[in-house]
Amino acid sequence: MPYESEKNIAIQAVQAAAQLCEQVRREIVPEAIEKKDKSPVTVADFGAQALICRALSTAFPQDPVVGEEDAAELRIPEMAARLAQVTQYVQAIVPDATSEQVTGWIDHGNGQVGSRYWTLDPIDGTKGFLRGDQYAIALALIENGEIKVGVLGCPALSFTEGQTGLMGVAVRGEGATLSTLTGGAAQAIQVVSASQSDNLRFVESVESGHGDQSRQAAVAQAAGITQSSLRMDSQAKYMAVAAGEAALYLRLPSPKTPDYREKIWDHAAGVILVEEAGGRITDITGKPLDFSLGAKLVNNQGVVVSNGSIHDAVLAAL
Ligand code: AMP
Ligand code: MG
Repeated sequence: MPYESEKNIAIQAVQAAAQLCEQVRREIVPEAIEKKDKSPVTVADFGAQALICRALSTAFPQDPVVGEEDAAELRIPEMAARLAQVTQYVQAIVPDATSEQVTGWIDHGNGQVGSRYWTLDPIDGTKGFLRGDQYAIALALIENGEIKVGVLGCPALSFTEGQTGLMGVAVRGEGATLSTLTGGAAQAIQVVSASQSDNLRFVESVESGHGDQSRQAAVAQAAGITQSSLRMDSQAKYMAVAAGEAALYLRLPSPKTPDYREKIWDHAAGVILVEEAGGRITDITGKPLDFSLGAKLVNNQGVVVSNGSIHDAVLAAL
Protein backbone atom coordinates (compact mmCIF):
# COMPACT_ATOMS: atom_id res chain seq x y z
CA MET A 1 0.00 0.00 0.00
CA PRO A 2 1.38 3.45 -0.87
CA TYR A 3 2.20 5.68 2.08
CA GLU A 4 1.47 2.88 4.56
CA SER A 5 4.32 3.75 6.93
CA GLU A 6 3.66 7.51 6.64
CA LYS A 7 0.03 6.88 7.51
CA ASN A 8 0.82 4.64 10.47
CA ILE A 9 3.45 6.97 11.95
CA ALA A 10 1.09 9.93 11.52
CA ILE A 11 -1.78 8.08 13.23
CA GLN A 12 0.35 7.11 16.22
CA ALA A 13 1.73 10.62 16.53
CA VAL A 14 -1.70 12.26 16.39
CA GLN A 15 -3.05 9.78 18.94
CA ALA A 16 -0.21 10.56 21.35
CA ALA A 17 -0.70 14.30 20.88
CA ALA A 18 -4.45 13.96 21.48
CA GLN A 19 -3.74 12.08 24.70
CA LEU A 20 -1.49 14.93 25.87
CA CYS A 21 -4.04 17.62 24.98
CA GLU A 22 -6.87 15.85 26.78
CA GLN A 23 -4.68 15.31 29.85
CA VAL A 24 -3.91 19.04 29.93
CA ARG A 25 -7.62 19.88 29.63
CA ARG A 26 -8.52 17.46 32.43
CA GLU A 27 -5.82 18.55 34.86
CA ILE A 28 -5.33 22.27 34.47
CA VAL A 29 -7.10 25.33 33.22
CA PRO A 30 -4.65 25.98 30.41
CA GLU A 31 -3.54 29.57 30.36
CA ALA A 32 -3.24 31.24 26.98
CA ILE A 33 -0.02 32.96 26.06
CA GLU A 34 -0.51 35.63 23.43
CA LYS A 35 1.68 35.26 20.35
CA LYS A 36 2.95 38.15 18.23
CA ASP A 37 -0.05 37.81 15.91
CA LYS A 38 -2.30 38.03 19.03
CA SER A 39 -3.45 34.42 18.65
CA PRO A 40 -3.31 32.19 21.75
CA VAL A 41 -0.94 29.29 22.42
CA THR A 42 -0.96 26.90 25.40
CA VAL A 43 1.19 24.26 27.07
CA ALA A 44 -0.78 21.68 25.08
CA ASP A 45 0.00 23.27 21.67
CA PHE A 46 3.72 23.08 22.45
CA GLY A 47 3.51 19.57 23.91
CA ALA A 48 1.52 18.22 20.97
CA GLN A 49 3.92 19.75 18.43
CA ALA A 50 6.89 18.28 20.35
CA LEU A 51 5.43 14.76 20.29
CA ILE A 52 4.48 14.81 16.62
CA CYS A 53 7.77 16.35 15.47
CA ARG A 54 9.67 13.80 17.56
CA ALA A 55 7.88 10.97 15.75
CA LEU A 56 8.35 12.50 12.29
CA SER A 57 12.01 13.41 12.81
CA THR A 58 12.75 9.85 13.90
CA ALA A 59 10.84 8.08 11.14
CA PHE A 60 11.45 10.53 8.26
CA PRO A 61 14.52 12.58 9.19
CA GLN A 62 14.78 14.15 5.72
CA ASP A 63 11.22 15.51 5.67
CA PRO A 64 10.68 19.16 6.64
CA VAL A 65 7.78 19.86 8.99
CA VAL A 66 5.94 23.16 8.62
CA GLY A 67 4.23 23.55 11.97
CA GLU A 68 2.28 26.36 13.56
CA GLU A 69 4.39 26.77 16.70
CA ASP A 70 8.04 27.44 17.43
CA ALA A 71 9.97 27.24 20.69
CA ALA A 72 11.62 30.70 20.62
CA GLU A 73 9.28 32.08 23.27
CA LEU A 74 9.60 28.98 25.43
CA ARG A 75 13.39 29.31 25.53
CA ILE A 76 13.47 32.72 27.23
CA PRO A 77 14.37 32.53 30.95
CA GLU A 78 11.02 33.97 32.14
CA MET A 79 9.29 31.01 30.54
CA ALA A 80 11.24 28.35 32.43
CA ALA A 81 8.25 27.27 34.52
CA ARG A 82 6.11 26.98 31.41
CA LEU A 83 8.74 24.93 29.62
CA ALA A 84 8.99 22.65 32.66
CA GLN A 85 5.23 22.15 32.48
CA VAL A 86 5.34 21.31 28.75
CA THR A 87 8.17 18.85 29.44
CA GLN A 88 6.22 17.23 32.26
CA TYR A 89 3.24 16.59 29.96
CA VAL A 90 5.52 15.23 27.22
CA GLN A 91 7.11 12.93 29.82
CA ALA A 92 3.71 11.33 30.47
CA ILE A 93 4.21 9.82 26.98
CA VAL A 94 8.01 9.90 26.55
CA PRO A 95 9.25 9.37 30.12
CA ASP A 96 12.90 10.31 29.57
CA ALA A 97 12.28 13.48 27.54
CA THR A 98 14.30 16.54 28.61
CA SER A 99 13.38 20.22 28.23
CA GLU A 100 16.20 20.61 25.75
CA GLN A 101 14.83 17.80 23.62
CA VAL A 102 11.31 19.23 23.85
CA THR A 103 12.35 22.63 22.47
CA GLY A 104 14.42 20.89 19.80
CA TRP A 105 11.47 18.77 18.69
CA ILE A 106 9.17 21.81 18.59
CA ASP A 107 11.66 23.68 16.42
CA HIS A 108 11.93 20.72 14.08
CA GLY A 109 8.53 22.08 13.03
CA ASN A 110 10.16 25.23 11.63
CA GLY A 111 10.73 23.67 8.24
CA GLN A 112 10.03 25.12 4.84
CA VAL A 113 7.58 24.05 2.19
CA GLY A 114 9.42 21.89 -0.36
CA SER A 115 8.78 19.12 -2.88
CA ARG A 116 7.89 16.83 0.03
CA TYR A 117 6.91 18.19 3.45
CA TRP A 118 4.57 17.68 6.37
CA THR A 119 2.33 20.39 7.75
CA LEU A 120 1.13 20.35 11.32
CA ASP A 121 -1.33 22.23 13.46
CA PRO A 122 -0.76 20.74 16.93
CA ILE A 123 -3.97 22.35 18.17
CA ASP A 124 -6.19 23.79 15.51
CA GLY A 125 -8.89 25.87 17.16
CA THR A 126 -6.94 26.84 20.28
CA LYS A 127 -9.81 29.16 21.17
CA GLY A 128 -12.16 26.17 21.13
CA PHE A 129 -9.68 24.17 23.19
CA LEU A 130 -9.64 26.95 25.81
CA ARG A 131 -13.45 27.26 25.80
CA GLY A 132 -13.96 23.52 26.30
CA ASP A 133 -15.30 23.16 22.75
CA GLN A 134 -13.99 21.54 19.56
CA TYR A 135 -10.36 21.47 18.51
CA ALA A 136 -8.27 19.27 16.22
CA ILE A 137 -4.78 17.89 15.81
CA ALA A 138 -4.07 18.15 12.11
CA LEU A 139 -1.20 16.50 10.24
CA ALA A 140 -0.72 16.10 6.49
CA LEU A 141 1.97 15.04 4.03
CA ILE A 142 2.31 17.02 0.80
CA GLU A 143 4.32 15.99 -2.27
CA ASN A 144 4.72 18.23 -5.32
CA GLY A 145 1.82 20.34 -4.12
CA GLU A 146 -0.54 17.38 -3.74
CA ILE A 147 -1.75 16.27 -0.32
CA LYS A 148 -0.99 12.54 -0.03
CA VAL A 149 -1.84 11.66 3.58
CA GLY A 150 -3.99 13.39 6.17
CA VAL A 151 -4.74 12.52 9.78
CA LEU A 152 -7.18 14.61 11.77
CA GLY A 153 -7.74 13.93 15.47
CA CYS A 154 -10.79 15.55 17.07
CA PRO A 155 -10.76 14.63 20.78
CA ALA A 156 -14.05 16.36 21.63
CA LEU A 157 -16.02 15.37 18.54
CA SER A 158 -18.89 12.90 18.56
CA PHE A 159 -21.28 11.80 15.81
CA THR A 160 -22.75 8.85 17.74
CA GLU A 161 -23.94 9.02 21.30
CA GLY A 162 -21.48 7.67 23.82
CA GLN A 163 -18.54 7.85 21.39
CA THR A 164 -16.41 10.96 21.82
CA GLY A 165 -12.96 11.42 20.31
CA LEU A 166 -12.76 10.76 16.58
CA MET A 167 -9.95 10.37 14.07
CA GLY A 168 -10.22 10.80 10.33
CA VAL A 169 -7.55 9.28 8.08
CA ALA A 170 -7.10 9.64 4.33
CA VAL A 171 -4.50 8.50 1.80
CA ARG A 172 -4.72 9.82 -1.77
CA GLY A 173 -6.65 7.36 -3.91
CA GLU A 174 -7.45 5.06 -0.98
CA GLY A 175 -10.56 6.76 0.46
CA ALA A 176 -11.23 8.22 3.88
CA THR A 177 -11.98 6.44 7.14
CA LEU A 178 -13.26 7.36 10.56
CA SER A 179 -12.44 5.63 13.84
CA THR A 180 -12.28 6.52 17.48
CA LEU A 181 -9.07 8.20 18.57
CA THR A 182 -8.23 5.30 20.83
CA GLY A 183 -8.07 2.92 17.87
CA GLY A 184 -10.84 0.50 17.04
CA ALA A 185 -12.26 -0.36 13.65
CA ALA A 186 -11.94 2.25 10.92
CA GLN A 187 -15.04 2.73 8.81
CA ALA A 188 -15.07 4.19 5.31
CA ILE A 189 -16.82 7.55 5.19
CA GLN A 190 -18.64 9.35 2.39
CA VAL A 191 -19.98 12.85 2.00
CA VAL A 192 -23.73 13.30 1.96
CA SER A 193 -25.09 12.48 -1.51
CA ALA A 194 -27.36 14.64 -3.64
CA SER A 195 -30.26 12.22 -3.18
CA GLN A 196 -30.10 12.62 0.60
CA SER A 197 -30.26 16.34 0.18
CA ASP A 198 -33.62 17.36 1.63
CA ASN A 199 -32.18 18.20 5.05
CA LEU A 200 -28.76 19.67 4.38
CA ARG A 201 -26.76 21.49 7.00
CA PHE A 202 -23.77 23.78 6.79
CA VAL A 203 -20.92 24.42 9.20
CA GLU A 204 -18.92 27.54 9.92
CA SER A 205 -16.51 28.87 12.57
CA VAL A 206 -17.58 29.77 16.07
CA GLU A 207 -15.31 32.82 15.81
CA SER A 208 -17.19 35.46 13.82
CA GLY A 209 -13.88 37.17 12.97
CA HIS A 210 -12.70 34.07 11.04
CA GLY A 211 -15.37 34.41 8.37
CA ASP A 212 -18.33 36.42 7.14
CA GLN A 213 -21.33 34.91 8.86
CA SER A 214 -24.06 37.01 7.28
CA ARG A 215 -22.76 36.33 3.76
CA GLN A 216 -22.22 32.66 4.64
CA ALA A 217 -25.88 32.34 5.68
CA ALA A 218 -27.04 34.02 2.46
CA VAL A 219 -24.85 31.83 0.24
CA ALA A 220 -25.91 28.62 2.00
CA GLN A 221 -29.53 29.59 1.56
CA ALA A 222 -29.04 30.37 -2.13
CA ALA A 223 -27.52 26.89 -2.52
CA GLY A 224 -30.66 25.31 -1.07
CA ILE A 225 -29.72 24.91 2.59
CA THR A 226 -32.59 26.00 4.76
CA GLN A 227 -31.30 25.05 8.21
CA SER A 228 -29.24 27.46 10.25
CA SER A 229 -25.53 26.74 10.58
CA LEU A 230 -23.76 24.45 12.97
CA ARG A 231 -20.88 26.42 14.43
CA MET A 232 -17.71 24.52 15.29
CA ASP A 233 -14.11 25.38 16.00
CA SER A 234 -11.23 23.87 14.04
CA GLN A 235 -11.02 21.37 11.18
CA ALA A 236 -13.72 19.38 12.96
CA LYS A 237 -15.81 21.16 10.31
CA TYR A 238 -14.02 19.21 7.56
CA MET A 239 -14.71 16.03 9.49
CA ALA A 240 -18.42 16.90 9.59
CA VAL A 241 -18.50 17.28 5.80
CA ALA A 242 -16.39 14.16 5.16
CA ALA A 243 -18.60 12.03 7.40
CA GLY A 244 -21.82 13.29 5.79
CA GLU A 245 -22.93 15.23 8.87
CA ALA A 246 -22.94 18.48 6.90
CA ALA A 247 -23.03 19.23 3.18
CA LEU A 248 -21.10 22.49 3.25
CA TYR A 249 -18.41 24.37 5.16
CA LEU A 250 -18.09 28.03 4.26
CA ARG A 251 -15.11 30.17 5.20
CA LEU A 252 -15.55 33.48 3.40
CA PRO A 253 -13.04 36.28 4.04
CA SER A 254 -14.01 38.41 7.02
CA PRO A 255 -14.83 42.01 6.04
CA LYS A 256 -12.49 43.01 8.88
CA THR A 257 -9.52 41.11 7.41
CA PRO A 258 -10.15 41.01 3.64
CA ASP A 259 -6.47 40.39 2.89
CA TYR A 260 -6.10 37.46 5.31
CA ARG A 261 -4.53 34.43 3.68
CA GLU A 262 -5.33 30.99 5.06
CA LYS A 263 -2.53 28.91 6.63
CA ILE A 264 -1.72 25.54 5.07
CA TRP A 265 -1.91 23.72 8.43
CA ASP A 266 -5.48 24.95 8.97
CA HIS A 267 -6.64 23.06 5.87
CA ALA A 268 -4.36 20.33 4.44
CA ALA A 269 -5.51 17.38 6.60
CA GLY A 270 -9.16 18.37 6.30
CA VAL A 271 -8.95 18.86 2.54
CA ILE A 272 -7.70 15.35 1.73
CA LEU A 273 -10.23 13.86 4.13
CA VAL A 274 -13.14 15.53 2.35
CA GLU A 275 -11.74 14.87 -1.15
CA GLU A 276 -11.24 11.19 -0.39
CA ALA A 277 -14.77 11.04 1.03
CA GLY A 278 -16.08 12.27 -2.34
CA GLY A 279 -16.33 16.00 -1.68
CA ARG A 280 -14.85 19.07 -3.32
CA ILE A 281 -12.79 22.03 -2.08
CA THR A 282 -12.01 25.32 -3.80
CA ASP A 283 -11.52 28.90 -2.77
CA ILE A 284 -14.33 31.43 -3.21
CA THR A 285 -13.45 31.97 -6.87
CA GLY A 286 -13.53 28.25 -7.67
CA LYS A 287 -9.74 27.78 -7.78
CA PRO A 288 -8.18 24.71 -6.14
CA LEU A 289 -6.11 25.42 -3.01
CA ASP A 290 -2.39 25.66 -3.82
CA PHE A 291 -0.24 24.05 -1.12
CA SER A 292 3.07 24.56 -2.94
CA LEU A 293 3.70 28.24 -2.24
CA GLY A 294 4.67 28.48 1.43
CA ALA A 295 3.00 28.56 4.82
CA LYS A 296 0.07 30.56 3.47
CA LEU A 297 -2.37 29.88 0.65
CA VAL A 298 -1.25 33.12 -0.98
CA ASN A 299 -3.07 32.44 -4.26
CA ASN A 300 -6.42 31.67 -2.65
CA GLN A 301 -9.10 33.60 -0.86
CA GLY A 302 -11.46 31.95 1.57
CA VAL A 303 -12.43 28.28 1.37
CA VAL A 304 -15.53 26.44 0.14
CA VAL A 305 -15.84 22.79 1.21
CA SER A 306 -18.78 20.76 -0.02
CA ASN A 307 -20.18 17.33 -0.72
CA GLY A 308 -19.46 18.05 -4.40
CA SER A 309 -23.01 17.99 -5.73
CA ILE A 310 -23.89 21.45 -4.39
CA HIS A 311 -20.49 23.01 -5.11
CA ASP A 312 -21.31 24.72 -8.40
CA ALA A 313 -24.51 26.17 -6.93
CA VAL A 314 -22.46 27.58 -4.03
CA LEU A 315 -19.89 29.13 -6.39
CA ALA A 316 -22.66 30.57 -8.52
CA ALA A 317 -24.25 32.12 -5.44
CA LEU A 318 -20.90 33.61 -4.45
P1 AMP B 1 -11.66 28.13 13.20
O1 AMP B 1 -11.62 27.29 14.42
O2 AMP B 1 -12.25 27.45 12.02
O3 AMP B 1 -12.26 29.48 13.45
O4 AMP B 1 -10.17 28.35 12.72
C1 AMP B 1 -9.12 28.64 13.57
C2 AMP B 1 -8.03 29.21 12.74
O5 AMP B 1 -8.42 30.45 12.18
C3 AMP B 1 -6.77 29.54 13.50
O6 AMP B 1 -5.92 28.43 13.50
C4 AMP B 1 -6.18 30.70 12.72
O7 AMP B 1 -5.04 30.31 11.99
C5 AMP B 1 -7.26 31.11 11.75
N1 AMP B 1 -7.52 32.55 11.65
C6 AMP B 1 -7.02 33.55 12.41
N2 AMP B 1 -7.45 34.75 11.96
C7 AMP B 1 -8.24 34.53 10.89
C8 AMP B 1 -8.97 35.38 9.99
N3 AMP B 1 -8.99 36.70 10.12
N4 AMP B 1 -9.66 34.78 8.99
C9 AMP B 1 -9.67 33.44 8.84
N5 AMP B 1 -8.99 32.59 9.67
C10 AMP B 1 -8.30 33.12 10.68
MG1 MG C 1 -5.12 26.47 13.47
